[in-house]
Amino acid sequence: MKTTEINKIRETRTIIIGGGVSGLACGRTLHERGQDFIMLTEEIGGRMLTSRSHQVNYGASYITEDYENIMPYMGGGKRIWTHNCYFHDSNRPISFYRPRTLLEVGKLIRLYRIAADFRKRLRVLRHKALYISQKEALEEDLVLKGYTRKPAVEFVRENGLEYLNRTYFSPLFNSTGFIEYDRCNTFAYLDNLMALICKTYVANHSHCCHMLPKGWENRIARCRVKAMRREGDTFEVRTERDVFRADNVVLALPYYSAKTFYDVPKPEHSVPIYVLEVRGERNKCCRGKEVVFFQPEEHEITILWQQVTGTDILFSKTKEPDLGKYYTSYHMISRIYWPTAVVLSGGEWFEQKLEKGVYLASDYNICGLEDAYITGVYAANQICGVF
Ligand SMILES: Cc1cc2nc3c(=O)[nH]c(=O)nc-3n(C[C@H](O)[C@H](O)[C@H](O)COP(=O)(O)OP(=O)(O)OC[C@H]3O[C@@H](n4cnc5c(N)ncnc54)[C@H](O)[C@@H]3O)c2cc1C
Repeated sequence: MKTTEINKIRETRTIIIGGGVSGLACGRTLHERGQDFIMLTEEIGGRMLTSRSHQVNYGASYITEDYENIMPYMGGGKRIWTHNCYFHDSNRPISFYRPRTLLEVGKLIRLYRIAADFRKRLRVLRHKALYISQKEALEEDLVLKGYTRKPAVEFVRENGLEYLNRTYFSPLFNSTGFIEYDRCNTFAYLDNLMALICKTYVANHSHCCHMLPKGWENRIARCRVKAMRREGDTFEVRTERDVFRADNVVLALPYYSAKTFYDVPKPEHSVPIYVLEVRGERNKCCRGKEVVFFQPEEHEITILWQQVTGTDILFSKTKEPDLGKYYTSYHMISRIYWPTAVVLSGGEWFEQKLEKGVYLASDYNICGLEDAYITGVYAANQICGVF
């Protein structure tokens, strides 16, 4: 349904604001339960943005085998192997089989055990978070809760991981979390390591954006929400030309968008990033490498990733990085700025029920496609009384 076709106040039970993965998950669940709702969104997919050909991801890029909820919609992408990944300053693929690293094998095994335990706990938390809030689920696991309170720096020091962190995990964290590990807690640090211990795949967004709204496309209105206010027991939501009323509102959009019309909690680490698509002749340091990770102190670029189309995707902390460092010649195909690219877990998690009838979805507590999806299902379950 296009905005221009809506010309009267529309009443419904639930308004979902935002059509990214969290809003779509909420819509899908409400649809399956036969609920009355409408989705107001500027566009479908949000941070699941792709190029026109759908072959290149401009937002979220990878999923792991533990993304159980979205795997049916987003699976089937190319497997990402560590033997195709390089650090910028090395000509050998990333490997733990190095003489210096083998001296640390005891610490590596200990870290693996901690990460495997974290993985198990995170899976339990995710199952619970479909029905109780992420915050409540965290309260039920004191180990995970402890990780949200412990700075990653302390975790690295306690486990004697300085060398392994400097050599492997800190550049990996910087490449996909877009900030340095020492600004984060242990939860975010271990969550980032899941890409190493789980099978990891390129996310297939076009299938997901097609399948999730299937059967309820007519409930989607493309428009920008400008204002929202409580009216007794209901809520009034305004776009440029229309007014909607509902008993429930699901805010399925990031902080910087939602705060323009509702007092949403501010995440501790909301990280921006530029995504560039470039076609070019790589210079020697990057030639022949499928995925290249960069050390945070030395580069504006965090990752350079060859795509099936022959182009490269680069994540950059600045708008106009010096690409001459990586290419002998190049042509910029596109540049996208994400004011909130990822949100890394902070020390205090937020309630998802903000007030009676208002639910916070999206990645305010845990970042990533799977967890955002879960927040949307949780909101729908609350609205339907499925606990
Ligand atoms: C560059 C990048 C790389 C990432 N890499 C990964 C990764 O590899 N793996 C992973 O799991 N996650 C990754 N993420 C994070 C992941 O994309 C997000 O956690 C997830 O997509 C959040 O989904 P969402 O639905 O909550 O929000 P969004 O996808 O941001 O959706 C918000 C929606 O709200 C709409 N909207 C905004 N303002 C308004 C308004 N005023 N009125 C109406 N509609 C509005 C937007 O149009 C959009 O459709 C990455 C993100 C980025 C940007």
